[in-house]
Amino acid sequence: MDTASSNGRNSGAGSSSGRAPVVVIGAGFAGLAAAVRLCEAGRRVLVLEATKAGGGRSRSFAHDSGLELDNGQHLMMGCYHETLAFLRAIGREGAVSFQRNLSLDMVRHGGKRVKLRCPALPAPLHLAAGLLTMRGLGPLHKASAMRVGMFLRGEVVRPDDNETCDAWLRRLGQTEGIRATFWDPLIWAVLNDDPLVASAAMLVAVLERAFLGTRDASRLGVPRVPLSRLYVDDACAWLRARGAELRFGQSVRAIECDDRGVSGVVLRGGERIETREVVTAVPPFALLDCLPETVLRHPVLQDVARLQTSPIINLWLFLDRPLFDDVPFVGLVNSPLHWLFDRNRIEGRDPGDTVLLNCTMSGARGFVDDSPETLVGLWHAEMERYFPGRRVRVQQVKVVKEKRATISHAAGTYHFRPEVRAPVAGLFFAGDWVRTGIPATIESACQSGHMAAAAVLER
Ligand SMILES: Cc1cc2nc3c(=O)[nH]c(=O)nc-3n(C[C@H](O)[C@H](O)[C@H](O)COP(=O)(O)OP(=O)(O)OC[C@H]3O[C@@H](n4cnc5c(N)ncnc54)[C@H](O)[C@@H]3O)c2cc1C
Repeated sequence: MDTASSNGRNSGAGSSSGRAPVVVIGAGFAGLAAAVRLCEAGRRVLVLEATKAGGGRSRSFAHDSGLELDNGQHLMMGCYHETLAFLRAIGREGAVSFQRNLSLDMVRHGGKRVKLRCPALPAPLHLAAGLLTMRGLGPLHKASAMRVGMFLRGEVVRPDDNETCDAWLRRLGQTEGIRATFWDPLIWAVLNDDPLVASAAMLVAVLERAFLGTRDASRLGVPRVPLSRLYVDDACAWLRARGAELRFGQSVRAIECDDRGVSGVVLRGGERIETREVVTAVPPFALLDCLPETVLRHPVLQDVARLQTSPIINLWLFLDRPLFDDVPFVGLVNSPLHWLFDRNRIEGRDPGDTVLLNCTMSGARGFVDDSPETLVGLWHAEMERYFPGRRVRVQQVKVVKEKRATISHAAGTYHFRPEVRAPVAGLFFAGDWVRTGIPATIESACQSGHMAAAAVLER
């Protein structure tokens, strides 16, 4: 096993002032949430992040328009309790704009809308009332949606992880109409995968959190500011003010172990940092790159290597006028372009300004190799179908492809996700993809970070 760095330099970070720091690798939601919890508990923390700016898969970048754009539009829900606790800790809870009650506008070919408006009733009655009064959907489809109530009341067998969303919805007798306007958009959004392959158990985990708690749990929220300003900048400032050390542009090359467990980490530049406690908060492929061969042979890591990924494409379009002007975002029924977000409305920018529109394509395996020109062509063709007669001019476009946006939640794969406690003493796994019981989302990332911190503190 590799026990020393290539140049043999040893960092004083772990040895000069008493107890060695807990090393957190990765400054995305998971790593920063873990670091904040550890710091709150009085532990010395050292965060190592490979990139100059951090933020991982939820980050912003400077665009030549002068605006900061996100790598992708991110939606949250009222049931993101761990995320909201993290944002509250760093003083940023107010930067997410939540609906008063769950409300959704879906656009059909030709421009007709299907509108879901959940009234101010206790959960899950608010959803039942919302589905029953959905505008633009026939009574047959609404009646089929009501059958889901049987599931929520425990009258239908719960799906296990081997059942797909498609099979489960068929078992519940859901019509094509309610699937196209409610279920399928929800599944693409929260599972980032095709309902034909995605796990129903993962969907149910979301339904329970969103619809069986309080009414507020199902509200949708959109960050009002770019993602890095939502949490990266303030979490880093919060951590530094409490004595944590954050090192950006410092990629970890190896995590070292001895017969007592973790013994240190080695950076790409060769520096070695001694520590007996490491929280990894990096995606699976990055974790596998850092671990020694002996650990990689463990069945837990063999399973991690089996996890597949699913892409997301985001088109940022600068338009001369709004495409729709009554709501901040809409979904498209039966389109590979799943959601459209009007960022001017969300950020409260002057409606006279150039309109910044985000278009999100989840689980976009079939499109990820297409050129930006092809994707923009697809956007134009779809807008002709969904907003006929609405003449908007595209002034500028930025296409962001995240090929490994999340792990795939294909049925039968949940057991590949590892527990937070690694099979090596002192090593803890965080990241949206670890076994949190929910899909790989911001909430799963923050939950995993909090779980990893709790596990470190329990030692
Ligand atoms: C386009 C897109 C849209 C999304 N939309 C939503 C949404 O609407 N709602 C939602 O809840 N979720 C959404 N997600 C998922 C969400 O972004 C992720 O769940 C979350 O960002 C994962 O955070 P993380 O901290 O687990 O991992 P990451 O964000 O991947 O952070 C890992 C960090 O580790 C660093 N790192 C990697 N290797 C090393 C190394 N060797 N040494 C040091 N540092 C290293 C990386 O640079 C990175 O900063 C979306 C994701 C994408 C890509």
